[in-house]
Amino acid sequence: MGDVGDDFRAMKAHRRDYREKAGLPCPECRRLQPKRDASILLPGQRCRVDGYRDPRNASDRQTTSPEVAPPNSADDFDIPF
Ligand SMILES: [Zn+2]
Repeated sequence: MGDVGDDFRAMKAHRRDYREKAGLPCPECRRLQPKRDASILLPGQRCRVDGYRDPRNASDRQTTSPEVAPPNSADDFDIPF
């Protein structure tokens, strides 16, 4: 039963990958507290430290579930068994 663990690892890897691609250090953190590590902000995310909001559109986010459920049209078919 390794499926759950594998999925969890894949999800974590995906999220880390996304953060590396889309995350930007908060410019206000850098300006106000240059000695501190800046918060990493994803598109549209607000910095918890200084309230700066990332101006990028949050809807540009990579979708986390690309599979869209297909329309259920099975009721329209007569299954020949
Ligand atoms: Zn900040």
